[in-house]
Amino acid sequence: MLTENLKRVEENIQTACQRAGRKREEVTLVAVSKTKPVSMLSEIYDCGVRSFGENKVQELCEKRELLPADIRWHMIGHLQRNKVKYIIRDAALIHSVDSYRLAEEINIQAKKIKRIVPILLEVNIAKESSKFGVAAEETLQLAEEISNLDNLRIEGLMTIAPYTEYPEENRIYFQKLRELSVDIGRENIDNVSMGILSMGMTGDYMTAIEEGATIVRVGTGIFGARNYKNS
Ligand SMILES: *Cc1c(COP(=O)(O)O)cnc(C)c1O
Repeated sequence: MLTENLKRVEENIQTACQRAGRKREEVTLVAVSKTKPVSMLSEIYDCGVRSFGENKVQELCEKRELLPADIRWHMIGHLQRNKVKYIIRDAALIHSVDSYRLAEEINIQAKKIKRIVPILLEVNIAKESSKFGVAAEETLQLAEEISNLDNLRIEGLMTIAPYTEYPEENRIYFQKLRELSVDIGRENIDNVSMGILSMGMTGDYMTAIEEGATIVRVGTGIFGARNYKNS
């Protein structure tokens, strides 16, 4: 079943790329495996997927131990400062940086292991009160502040668009995130590049690709619905 799900997602990604006149290689699929057992991740790994997304530090660490070392682990969930040290070595990309204080802690831990850690700034583009993320108007300033930290590197922006049954409703937010990244890119801040746009989930990843996403984070579309009660 997972193989078929993945195939469908892959076809959709290709269709969206074609529609937008983009190359398939411009878009990375991150398989969001939170709450799912290692056996399911293995199945997707065997189909060739190498990027997995987790939103909890402990879960990421446990799965990493059990799965092949060439997996790129994406930290996509809200990150507490006291847990940064557990993922500092193994996170290929931290998507969820939304404060200077968190960036500072990542910098401290990264320095200890002499690593330069790639991060994204999480933007609350739809101004939802329930969501983490920096406000769009404050993102440039945050990027400027964080750019002074030597052991991390801002590589782009991430957003979690509102939940909706109608992907078209989120197009405006994807456009806004893209405009924001272009604006920040134009400032030519040292240590800041805007190459990555992490946006689009199961409900709206095709729309996100049409609007310039370079990473889509797909969970349900690959692994099926999550059952939080049993996990
Ligand atoms: C859970 C999650 C996803 C995947 O959501 P689906 O709707 O299941 O595809 C993507 N991004 C983040 C940050 C998430 O927490």
